[in-house]
Amino acid sequence: MSAEFKGRNVTVMGLGRFGGGVGLTRWLVARGARVLLTDRESPKDLGSSLARIDDLVQSGQVILRLGGHDARDFAKTDMVVVNPAVATPWANEFVQAAFDAGVHVATEIGLLCQRLPNRRRTIGVTGSVGKSTTSAMIHHVLRECGRPVVFGGNIGGTLLGALDSGELTPDHWVVLELSSAMLYWLSGWSPHVAVVTNLVTNHVDWHGTIEHYRQSKQQILASQREGDIAVLGETLGNWATVAGVDRRVMPAGAALDALALPGRHNRSNAALAVAGVLAADPAISAGQAQASVRTFAGLSHRLERVGVFAGIACFNDSKSTTPESTMLALEAFGESVGMGRVHLIAGGYDKGADLTPVAKAAGALAGLYTIGQTGPTIAAAAGGAALECETLEVAVKRARERAKPGDVLLLSPACASWGQFENFERRGELFVKLVKGIA
Ligand code: ADP
Repeated sequence: MSAEFKGRNVTVMGLGRFGGGVGLTRWLVARGARVLLTDRESPKDLGSSLARIDDLVQSGQVILRLGGHDARDFAKTDMVVVNPAVATPWANEFVQAAFDAGVHVATEIGLLCQRLPNRRRTIGVTGSVGKSTTSAMIHHVLRECGRPVVFGGNIGGTLLGALDSGELTPDHWVVLELSSAMLYWLSGWSPHVAVVTNLVTNHVDWHGTIEHYRQSKQQILASQREGDIAVLGETLGNWATVAGVDRRVMPAGAALDALALPGRHNRSNAALAVAGVLAADPAISAGQAQASVRTFAGLSHRLERVGVFAGIACFNDSKSTTPESTMLALEAFGESVGMGRVHLIAGGYDKGADLTPVAKAAGALAGLYTIGQTGPTIAAAAGGAALECETLEVAVKRARERAKPGDVLLLSPACASWGQFENFERRGELFVKLVKGIA
């Protein structure tokens, strides 16, 4: 057990719903820390995450402060570990209370990156869209090519436990999907290979301004060193890299065809992923990397083919939380079955994005069914071409009534899930359950 945490009081701010907070809390306790876990959500909302640390709560190794925070937990402790989901942390009174009291403030990703055994084997992936897919493709290709590799970061869970268990050795490649919020906190650390997909307006609610968002993303390059490699999406040619970094900008229109996944965006993600792999390990040939990426079957909730029910092909794209993503999904089906056969379910939490393009597509679609907080706005902008359904249950029911065999039923919400769902995964899971019920 490391002396660093033994007997130390650590406040964990935000349990989260993707396993990172659970893994972090378990790791801290295993290292001898006394953890106070605080979350503004109630026990009911934290649901399954809370159940996964129940043994530690019962044994008294973790104390809970839920349904709100208490500034004293931040000022009178040895360390605060902030969940990157906490928006505008520089303006958060509790994070500030820790800083004001001189308490060390950390994040799970920061604790991890400081401890990685071999920085020369790190590949970080960021961008507004395509992070999960591109990083999962890189992970898949390295594994297919027989390289030892682990995958972590924003994709969920934590790799901290793998550090202690020996699953993560200096020989392992570490592929990290990095969100802009994680990068904000990662000042001072950048990966050996940095891969950036693109930059579109997103997450302004977290960052306050688009400029802050861009600057946070650029942390993936800011602390690179001579001999590191930056692989930049074709629209990022103006992004600065540190002197001595091998800078590779993707050629315009770079795309890899014949993938197992649909969509132009996945063809460009695949081209970028291959470039990332070749940057990381020049011993892998382009042909080998391309062949491997073509076998990548995709991630759940991203244009995932759920199945054909009563003749209707159902696709779960719950991860689409921006209008741009939804337009891409529509384009992918436009290429295959044609827009006129697509029944789209869209809408959700209002992140302030302009949903007009989605609404305007309604006329070309077989149907647009809106749900959630933005549902009425989308339906209004669609000028009568959309059905406002409020809930996913009603939307699937209405689409089912109208769809013909050969049609596509697509959940691609263009919005975050909050308000109606714990996260995009729960939303996608409900969709899968509902469409399976169609049969
Ligand atoms: P992220 O992890 O950055 O949110 P994902 O790989 O999970 O991205 O993809 C989420 C959605 O974003 C996809 O379903 C798709 O609609 C869209 N998307 C993925 N890659 C791209 C890309 N290269 N360009 C534009 N949109 C993309």
